[in-house]
Amino acid sequence: MSTLNIRNLHVSIEDKEILKGVDLVVNSGEVHAIMGPNGTGKSTLASSLMGHPKYQVTEGSASLDGEDLLEMEVDERARAGLFLAMQYPQEVSGVTNSDFMRSALKAVRGEDIPLIKFIMEYEKNAEELKMREDLPHRYLNEGFSGGERKRNEILQLKTLKPKFAILDEIDSGLDIDALRIVGENVNKMISPEFGCILITHYQRILDYIKPTHVHIMINGKIVLTGGQELITKIDQNGYEWVKEELGIDF
Ligand code: ADP
Ligand code: MG
Ligand code: MG
Repeated sequence: MSTLNIRNLHVSIEDKEILKGVDLVVNSGEVHAIMGPNGTGKSTLASSLMGHPKYQVTEGSASLDGEDLLEMEVDERARAGLFLAMQYPQEVSGVTNSDFMRSALKAVRGEDIPLIKFIMEYEKNAEELKMREDLPHRYLNEGFSGGERKRNEILQLKTLKPKFAILDEIDSGLDIDALRIVGENVNKMISPEFGCILITHYQRILDYIKPTHVHIMINGKIVLTGGQELITKIDQNGYEWVKEELGIDF
């Protein structure tokens, strides 16, 4: 079993404190949903765990199986078993999807994958995500619809098989069919060897992926943790009740 351990994490962007002491422990086999209003720091948590240089960790710790993530470069974090599906996947012109994926796989595994084996697995995964057949030859996310970009992130996840994935609003911009495809594919990944942080605004992706833990993040902190009952409550009442219940302002 693996453990991602985040303790009292404080993160600033350009000297403005965004995360104000996040505590979160995720074990493999668990799915943690992080919900919260816009601008509350959810993507900041994702980016700082992955090592985006713009985010300065000013206090606290983050480790994976006891190894200090904060000391690692982005590629080292990926090799340690961390994966981030981004809220806004970038396009990279001139690099095909398959070349990108094969390089990423080589970088993470530390060895080349035989081409035939790679192609077979990539095509199988692409088919399960209902990607277009010309996907391998198209440039990375270039001209992709929002839904295609998100499905392409899940394709990378399926191919890289990390220990932990952070999925940042993987449901935004998805129509109902794409939502089901993404949900089913993430569900299939969940195993005793895989843990997941699912960042979302809405409950609808959680119809497909059932979290074992639900956290509410407000103003840079996880203020409430519970089970799936929290999802229904947020769906029906938004976040105002949290404020009243906990006597906090945001
Ligand atoms: P969420 O994902 O919960 O919507 P974010 O983590 O994206 O929230 O943003 C938290 C806060 O940090 C917001 O006030 C946002 O304006 C600010 N912020 C996020 N990213 C940047 C950035 N790259 N530069 C400056 N401010 C940022
Ligand atoms: Mg946002
Ligand atoms: Mg965000």
